Order: sequence, then C-alpha cells, then structure tokens
Amino acid sequence: MNTDQQPDVKTRADFKTREVHAGVRPDPVTGAILTPIYQSTTYVQESVDKYLDKGYSYSRSGNPTVTALEDRITALEGGVGSACFATGMAATSSVMMAMLNAGDHAVLSDVVYGGTHRLCTRILTRFGVDYSFVDTANPKNVAEALRNNTKLIFTETPANPTLKLTDIAAVSEIAKVKDIPHVCDNTFLTPYYQRPLELGADISLHSTTKFMEGHNVSVGGSITAADEAQLEAIKFVRNCLGCNMSPMVAFYTLQGCKTMSTRLEAQSANALKIANFLETHAIAERVTYPGLDSFPQKALADSQASGHGSMLWFEVKGGMESGKKLMAGLQLWSLAENLGSVESLVTHSVTMTHADMPREQRMTAGITDGLVRLSVGLESADDLIADLKQALDRL
Ligand code: PLP
Repeated sequence: MNTDQQPDVKTRADFKTREVHAGVRPDPVTGAILTPIYQSTTYVQESVDKYLDKGYSYSRSGNPTVTALEDRITALEGGVGSACFATGMAATSSVMMAMLNAGDHAVLSDVVYGGTHRLCTRILTRFGVDYSFVDTANPKNVAEALRNNTKLIFTETPANPTLKLTDIAAVSEIAKVKDIPHVCDNTFLTPYYQRPLELGADISLHSTTKFMEGHNVSVGGSITAADEAQLEAIKFVRNCLGCNMSPMVAFYTLQGCKTMSTRLEAQSANALKIANFLETHAIAERVTYPGLDSFPQKALADSQASGHGSMLWFEVKGGMESGKKLMAGLQLWSLAENLGSVESLVTHSVTMTHADMPREQRMTAGITDGLVRLSVGLESADDLIADLKQALDRL
C-alpha cells in the first residue's frame, strides 16, 4: 500500500477488514504502519488566521491518534462520525449534558450500569433534570413514561448486570414519533454483534474499556452519532469539560479493536459452554445467558444481535454467604470490577458495580444480593469450568 493511500474501508463489506484497517494509513513521514501516538498538546499555526489548516489546535479538542480511532469506530458502527472520551462515563456525561437542560426529563432503562444511575440521581438532579427509570424490556413502558419535557431516552442492552434486553428498533420508533433522541449503550455486544444506529437509534455509546480495547490496559469511551448536529453538540461539551481521550489510550484501543470480532467469537463460545455447565450444577440457580434456550428474551436476542457476547450471571444456592465463599474459592477467575477483557473476571454486582443503587430499586430491577456476574475471557473453557466446578463443589 502506498503511504498516501488508504483502502476504501468505509464501504468494504467485511467488518473484519474494517476493524483492522479503518481510520489508519501508513504514516506519511516515516511509513510506520501504525498511526503514531501524537503526544503533543498543541499544533503550530502557519499564520494568525491559518491555525486550523490541518484540523488541530489543542489536544483537548482534537488529536490525530484519537481521530484515527474515531474514524475506525464510525466505520464499524455506521453513522456520520464518532467522538472518543477519557472513560465510558465521560461519554455518558457529555451526551447527557449536551441533550438535557434544567427542567427537562429523561427516560432510562431501570437496569443500567451503576455509574450511569449514579450520574443521574446524584449529579444531574442537582441541575434540575428529572429522570424515570422504567422496564424498557416492554417498549410500551417507554411510551407511557414520556412527558412533554422528555428530551432523552437512554437504553442499555444487554443491560449490566442482568442482561435484560431492550428492543432497539421498537424504542427508536417511539422516540422518532416524538422527536426525542434515543441513545443506546452498546458496550456489552460491540458493533460486531449489534449496531444500534442501523436499528434506528440516534447515538451508540461504548465504554471502550471493555470489549473494544479488550485487554484490561486502558479506560476510555466513545459515542457514534447518526446526526452531524448532535455529534458537534457532544464534541462541544467534551471540549468544555475537558474529557477527551488521551492519544496513548487511542493507540491501545486502535490495536485492541483489530481482534475485536475474533475475541468476541471465542469468548462467546466459551461463555455458552460455561452457561451450559452451570445449568447442570445443583448449586447454581437462575443461570442467565442470551445464548441459552432458557433466556427469557431469546427471540429478541437472536433477532437484533448476531451474537450473544461473553457476559452471564447466576445465583448461588445459599445466598450472599455462599456467593462470597465461591468467589474466595476461585483460582483462575479474578474478582474484579471490569468486563470484556481477555482475562476472565467474576464480579459481585451488589457490592461492586451497583453499590450506590438503593437496595429497593436494585431488587425491583432484578439485581439480587446473590447475583454473581461472569465476564468470560479467552482462556481454555475447560480450565475455566474446572475452576468453577471445584469452587462450587466445595460449597
Ligand atoms: N456502560 C456500561 C454498560 C458499563 O458496564 C460501564 C462500566 O462498567 C460504563 C458504561 C462506564 O464505563 P467506564 O468504566 O469506562 O467509565
């Protein structure tokens, strides 16, 4: 490939080609195959009135390594463009600040990442924004929760940690009729398995910390927009808040993205094997994985996504105490707060990711005290099952 050429990866049919090449071309100065880490605060102006000639002025508002990642994510999600952030929560915060004013109302899934819930209930309420958390598994609940001042519908599907699904197309339809933007957190499935914009959503959002980067190396976030004006409004907030992604993190994420589909396929295959094993174990109850026939929303899981991901959960007979013993007895699985990486992780959502959510609300949303969340990695499924078995057998 010539250094000034880039394959037309945006229009190529195959996702697997786009995830490797989109956004990146050989460096025109050195020929380096990877976009360099442009570790620079500022960009030298040609003259007083020509400082934006190359598109960059200051790295808080834009950076070439970050742009390469944004272009790649757009090529994977669709839409008109993307913006990357310091974390997933920076992405969520910026979207909400761009779309909501004092006196406005937003409708959210009753099961969302604990940090999203905390942002709404502990921060944005102080600025006069009102929220309704509804069971978005039934789109009718979304329609019924809308008010004259509703300015945002925010869904997360599959939701963290219960894996409840929202019908993206049905909710987007409701949103469109009322001209309300529908933002969908697509972190659990990635654009390889699910593309919210194709289903009618206005924004697809990610914690790139999870499957996109995929190696427990960096925290980051992204949004991809269907509409130019919405993208610019969100970028404006990002610049004001100062929460752009760093070039180093963009570099790591560009490398992680290249194996996203391959990792997802392998991790999802592992997850199905583990879910099948857990369903046969007497101590494991309510095993929940979208790839299982017993999954309550199996038809929707199969129709709106092309894969089921590597997240699952179950409850241990004996409640919280047994759950704690189980986690202490695991050797290969790490007890930790992340998900989506190549290392398999186990999380106790109630004391970790959703600790700030009031118990009553948690119970209504199905986030029970004994819920054990598994993020299945790339290790051998046999080894992962053997470790779970020895820990479960000792309870
Ligand atoms: N969205 C989902 C579904 C998450 O699980 C998380 C974090 O766990 C976030 C957003 C927030 O991302 P970050 O931790 O990168 O801020």
